[in-house]
Amino acid sequence: MMEVCGACQNDCPYCAHSGMISAYKGYQLSIKELESFIQCTLKSGYFFETIHVHGIGEPLLWKHFNTGIKLLKEAGIAGNIIVTTNGLSSDRIKDETWEYIDVLNVSLYENCSNRGNLKELADRHKGKVNLVPPSGFRTKPTKRYLTTLPCPCLCSGPMFVKDKIFLHCGPPVFDAAILSGIDIFSSRDLYVELAPHYLEKFEENKIGNIVLCNCCWANENIDLPRYPHGCIPSRIMFALKCWYFNEFRDGIKSFQRFPQW
Ligand code: SF4
Ligand code: SF4
Repeated sequence: MMEVCGACQNDCPYCAHSGMISAYKGYQLSIKELESFIQCTLKSGYFFETIHVHGIGEPLLWKHFNTGIKLLKEAGIAGNIIVTTNGLSSDRIKDETWEYIDVLNVSLYENCSNRGNLKELADRHKGKVNLVPPSGFRTKPTKRYLTTLPCPCLCSGPMFVKDKIFLHCGPPVFDAAILSGIDIFSSRDLYVELAPHYLEKFEENKIGNIVLCNCCWANENIDLPRYPHGCIPSRIMFALKCWYFNEFRDGIKSFQRFPQW
């Protein structure tokens, strides 16, 4: 998974990336940083079946999108390049870049104003564009659970961002760290600095099996309510949800921790 840009046009109430977006304010992966990643990957002899170009926010707002995708594909370090986007800036994809994209997944939120253009792209690049209708947005946990491990993880690593590799986690680990009161950059077991053989310390059985999973949005063992995208429950609905999920006191604290509530 590769995180290329911190900006997003949306501000979804339950964005599972918001903690990481705040930690990397204004982030744009530079071409130099991308080239370092490619060089380290080649020196290590790694080859990835798929690289997901993903966020942290909206990948089509990455200012080097067209150059970067071409560099990545031509480097020969991945079989497939999959881009996941909200589709609002699909006109930023140059015609020649489609040659280097294997799949474009578009999450069609209700504010998607260019559905016509996306439909046209899907017709023109048959088999490459998936228009995905919105499903309910999973809310975030507001407390630490005790007995959820090991868990299936909805958003596992390894994840490359700027000059670091998070070995086992994707962006939701940032919110889990905030909820636990941990400074993520002091947690040296979570990431390594980018260098050749950066996956030496990767252990598959740690995915879904670290302490932070107990309060992470991506932990599928935590039963969290879902709301339609864009729906912000009233404080009464939110209080009822906290009561139902037995987390009333933690829920009240989360009004301050996650100001969107
Ligand atoms: S579109 Fe995605 S990245 Fe942007 S705010 Fe919504 S959930 Fe977060
Ligand atoms: S903390 Fe656990 S559940 Fe969350 S992203 Fe990391 S491995 Fe997945």
